[in-house]
Amino acid sequence: VSRNQGETEFHQAVREVISSLGPVLDKHPEYAEACIIERVCEPERQIIFRVPWMTDQGQIKINRGFRVEFNSALGPYKGGLRFHPSVYLGIVKFLGFEQIFKNALTGMPIGGGKGGSDFDPKGRSDHEIMRFCQSFMTELYRHLGEYTDVPAGDIGVGGREIGYLFGQYKRITNRYESGVLTGKGLTWGGARVRTEATGYGSVFFTEEMLATTGESFDGKAVTISGSGNVAIYAAEKVIELGGRVVSMSDSNGYVVDERGLNLDLVKDIKEVRRGRISEYVESQKRARYVADGSIWDVPCDVALPSATQNELDETAATTLVQNGCVAVAEGANMPCTPAAVHVFQDAKVAFAPGKAANAGGVATSALEMQQNASRDSWTFEHSENRLKSIMVDIHATCFETAQEYGAPGDYVLGANIAGFVKVADAMLAHGLI
Ligand code: NDP
Repeated sequence: VSRNQGETEFHQAVREVISSLGPVLDKHPEYAEACIIERVCEPERQIIFRVPWMTDQGQIKINRGFRVEFNSALGPYKGGLRFHPSVYLGIVKFLGFEQIFKNALTGMPIGGGKGGSDFDPKGRSDHEIMRFCQSFMTELYRHLGEYTDVPAGDIGVGGREIGYLFGQYKRITNRYESGVLTGKGLTWGGARVRTEATGYGSVFFTEEMLATTGESFDGKAVTISGSGNVAIYAAEKVIELGGRVVSMSDSNGYVVDERGLNLDLVKDIKEVRRGRISEYVESQKRARYVADGSIWDVPCDVALPSATQNELDETAATTLVQNGCVAVAEGANMPCTPAAVHVFQDAKVAFAPGKAANAGGVATSALEMQQNASRDSWTFEHSENRLKSIMVDIHATCFETAQEYGAPGDYVLGANIAGFVKVADAMLAHGLI
């Protein structure tokens, strides 16, 4: 803690993983002898840089850029970039740390990293976004490469931003290195299903989890926080599987329609108009908008927190349990506080941690790298089948690992142990580096 002062979210993420590892260290004393835990908690490299850019009015702005290259035991560093005013080193390190084990769980050859900036894209013009992305990449490019470090999107970084970042990388390096970024546009190296992957994947994982008790999404009321990339495509798959999405949100408030939200309208507001979720009720009179409340007060059978970290606390978890919620899967990274997770586990609510439930995004990014390496482009159907089988495998791995270590149904323990063992074995094999 003294070496990482003030990095609250990073401490939280490390504590969560380490608290699962006691039984692993009993079984594998070689991990302790080789100081694997101490090593895995220390990033291999941390890059912090200045990002100067100019507004449309000619005003100079300075932001801070980050890239934490956390662990490359299993492959090149892989993880998204987040542009949000709350970004600081502690957030980037928590996300990078989680990413190590998530990437290990996918079974793909990718290490863990994460990056971003405290830049706030809200209200910025296209030109301002482009200038910011170009400035950001002008420093970051020297640290990247398809065999070194491969960023992708995250909060505030979608297809538009990846396009500007890729364009600047290509210009500076004079290389059309498709595999250096993922989440690219379909006409220039992107992969089908990457946009949908995290949301679809979290629903596939939840479907598996529900199936262990003979349940399915059919007829279920589902609350999904956020209305960004993860939330929208989680909603799409829930609806396809016969569920009703009763509520979605953004950072200002949430909309509720017990008979099921109209996803086309949500997509139009968020993806086309880049507007606010409050606009939903302007044309859908039977829905209601609640500003500043808790979306978790809306009764539901399944909850998919898909906005941001620590958005679902103990009080919200208690309300969900009282309202009869049977399953919770983290579409976002660490959206549930540790106390909330305890509430779910004590109440025997099926709970899927983000590093397992939202791993479909990065897994499909690895499939994008695979297609780039072979100059190939797969169909939607083939890509979705690959995603589904990866999520089914991750579920089975977490489920079986939890059973093996005497904690059946504990997906947190199962995910942490299965991810850690894979990374630890590779680190042991590589010697003291
Ligand atoms: P987007 O930027 O597309 O959407 C984020 C959504 O969450 C928006 O609706 C946003 O509302 C809301 N939100 C963001 N910050 C806050 C906040 N502080 N309080 C309340 N609401 C907030 O991001 P993504 O959908 O890509 O990412 C969502 C989560 O999923 C993140 O935790 C991310 O790390 C995780 N994730 C994403 C993956 C991906 O492939 N995209 C992969 C794996 C995990 P507003 O517009 O008002 O800010």
